[in-house]
Amino acid sequence: MDHQLRRTKLSARLPELEVEALLVTRLPNVRYVTGFTGSNGQALITSSGEGNLFLTDGRYTEQSRHEVPDMERDPSPADFPARIAEAFRDAGVSRVGFETAGVTYKLWQQLTEKSGVELVPVGDEIERLRWIKDPEEIELLNGAQAITDEAFERIQTKMVEGISERDLALELEWAMRQAGAEGLSFDSIVAFGENAAEPHHHPADRTLGSGDVVKFDFGALFGGYHADMTRTVAFGEPDPKFREIHELVAAAQRAGIEAVRAGVTGRDADAASRKVIEDAGYADAFSHSLGHGVGLEIHEGPTLRTQSDDVLPAGAVVTVEPGVYLPGIGGVRIEDTLVVGANGAEPLTLTPKDLVL
Ligand code: ZN
Ligand code: ZN
Repeated sequence: MDHQLRRTKLSARLPELEVEALLVTRLPNVRYVTGFTGSNGQALITSSGEGNLFLTDGRYTEQSRHEVPDMERDPSPADFPARIAEAFRDAGVSRVGFETAGVTYKLWQQLTEKSGVELVPVGDEIERLRWIKDPEEIELLNGAQAITDEAFERIQTKMVEGISERDLALELEWAMRQAGAEGLSFDSIVAFGENAAEPHHHPADRTLGSGDVVKFDFGALFGGYHADMTRTVAFGEPDPKFREIHELVAAAQRAGIEAVRAGVTGRDADAASRKVIEDAGYADAFSHSLGHGVGLEIHEGPTLRTQSDDVLPAGAVVTVEPGVYLPGIGGVRIEDTLVVGANGAEPLTLTPKDLVL
């Protein structure tokens, strides 16, 4: 990853934001511009690049030496706000941006008190840079999805009568770890029968019985990048109603995928898929947005939902995940991850979408 190039791009944006420097404190953004993977790190990026500084604490002295070799580092400042104030003075900046989603009120007070600089709130500037993935990022996202596909294949034999949602979720985690995952993208959702009516069901003691619908939403973490996939299958012969709903959701997903291309708004992509479900009379049963970006965070921009003005750029990686949920009965969601291209979208997800395995 070319972190220096990312910092240069960020520096070039700062004059437009009318700040002389940006204090980066949201960890995914710190990782994006520095390469640091630890749990405590901050970066000061100036418009000229002079005075750029990386800060962490003593636990990460050695790690940051390897991960952030190309920046001035202070691995163990005694007093963080005082050290940042000193960095502002060293860089000669008097108007500094901070990330609105990354600075607490307490830190803002301390920085204001100790530095005397004008602190200016800046929105999702680095998040916007992160929308468009570079080739190395696509490769890692592809790797995360390949592990996810493989894990799903591996757990087919674990779907036996009487297994609980919790145990199947554990099998899924084990399979992902064995296939090379460094962790889980998020807590796996495994929902049997009526529990599939909850879009984000937490796996519990419900056991698997013949004819149950089974909804999986899960993903592997690989190289810091997230995978996100939902499949809904049936264990044994399902109720005919589920065949109907599954076909409907699959058709809605195809419509959504077909709508995804560079230049389209998140709103239009959402509408293309949602219309299929609305036309079938299930508008109220599709209770969430169509999709979201995926990368260093499981949910990031651009968003595909009814109110989204986000314009999808080529190189963005997004999910398309319509669902229909029937309280007390069950539900179906199908989710793939796609790379946005000029003329359409290329799927990273390769797992088949059949209802019955
Ligand atoms: Zn998902
Ligand atoms: Zn998702």
